[in-house]
Amino acid sequence: MNEAEAALERIFGFTSFRPGQRDILEAVFSGENILAVMPTGSGKSLCYQLPAIVRKGLTIVVSPLIALMRDQVQQLQRSGVPAAALNSSNSGEDNAMVERGLRQGRYRLVYVAPERLVRPDAVALLRAAGANALAIDEAHCVSQWGHDFRPEYLGLAQAARAIGDLQLIAVTATADAPTRADIIRKLFAAEPRVFIRSFDRPNLRLAMRRKSDAARQIETAVKRHEGQSGIVYCASRNGVEQLARTLSANGVPALAYHAGLDAEIRSANQDEFLRNDGVVIVATIAFGMGIDKPNVRFVCHADLPQSIEAYYQEIGRAGRDGLPADTLTLFSDSDILLRERQISTSDAPAERKRMERRKLHALIALCETPRCRRQTLLAAFGEASQPCGNCDICEGKWPFFNGVVAAQKVMSAIHRTSGR
Ligand code: ADP
Ligand code: MG
Ligand code: ZN
Repeated sequence: MNEAEAALERIFGFTSFRPGQRDILEAVFSGENILAVMPTGSGKSLCYQLPAIVRKGLTIVVSPLIALMRDQVQQLQRSGVPAAALNSSNSGEDNAMVERGLRQGRYRLVYVAPERLVRPDAVALLRAAGANALAIDEAHCVSQWGHDFRPEYLGLAQAARAIGDLQLIAVTATADAPTRADIIRKLFAAEPRVFIRSFDRPNLRLAMRRKSDAARQIETAVKRHEGQSGIVYCASRNGVEQLARTLSANGVPALAYHAGLDAEIRSANQDEFLRNDGVVIVATIAFGMGIDKPNVRFVCHADLPQSIEAYYQEIGRAGRDGLPADTLTLFSDSDILLRERQISTSDAPAERKRMERRKLHALIALCETPRCRRQTLLAAFGEASQPCGNCDICEGKWPFFNGVVAAQKVMSAIHRTSGR
């Protein structure tokens, strides 16, 4: 671990580990097979990159997106780490060069697309290269229960055995208990060490309300945050256009965003939102992936999100800076029926439909719960917790006492953030 701490500073330029990283690294260094479930942005890549750099041998990294692999390889190379990628977006020449490098033992990390890793020629090559660990990023892709199933991931366990006795390091940000069990069953021959970091975002205030007059309800919520940036999600493009118009007519600087808009308008509106504070973007779920604006102060849902995971992802775009942020989710019986119908009429396989229904029902339960919202939300992700004091239900029940607890939690979140 001393060597790891030195490398942390020397290679990555970081002065300390993020919460959770040290425990995982210790387990990786002691040779255990691990599954780590940690929220996005918590620094999962380091948990396989650092050991790969410090130890002897070659670590294979599998990740579902070629662009993500390319970014990581470039970053590592810039820091002087011998890393390479094998995938279909390389030229034949590039791949041939990487293959030669692998046979010469030139790399510490090689990023391989999953559909390539399961091929016999890749297995033979990596076996010859003496690979000793396999890191599986976005490990939920192996599970049909997850939201992003990749059939190629199903072949990874067998490929790992064929390459050699590889140490398995699986990481993901999304895995409730059934998905977790499924990942373990499909990737590991024996029970791995499992690390789960809290998904709680204590600085987000959670609130859900039945729709009466959605436009009015959203307007009221948004006007409490004048001059601040926020996102309002609607289920349809039509809803987006209407609500953006209504808000604008009522003096809110609101801009629309959905996939049906002209690419130019869309990117102009997105830029406006990213560059200036005080803009409210009214959007379908097409908006948000890869958007990293730290000071989004509120996220509202004018309609029920698609699932409990979608809800968590979408509200999670608020308050990335760790400062207090507000959320409000509206729902109605017709939202629920609409979503039920979407699921039944889709042509997804039956198993997938069951899973989508389960995730919808978890969200409905959250809308209707008499219990603390956060406690219910975290419980849906398999996490036990106490009433939070920073949600509509806690505030309704114990307005004074829990207000104090909430303030303390938010203060400590602020301290944690500014200490980073
Ligand atoms: P995840 O895969 O969990 O979403 P990443 O591995 O992409 O997260 O890391 C998110 C960001 O945090 C990256 O910019 C990474 O460089 C940074 N990071 C990771 N570990 C540390 C650390 N110990 N100290 C500071 N920054 C870190
Ligand atoms: Mg990641
Ligand atoms: Zn609460």
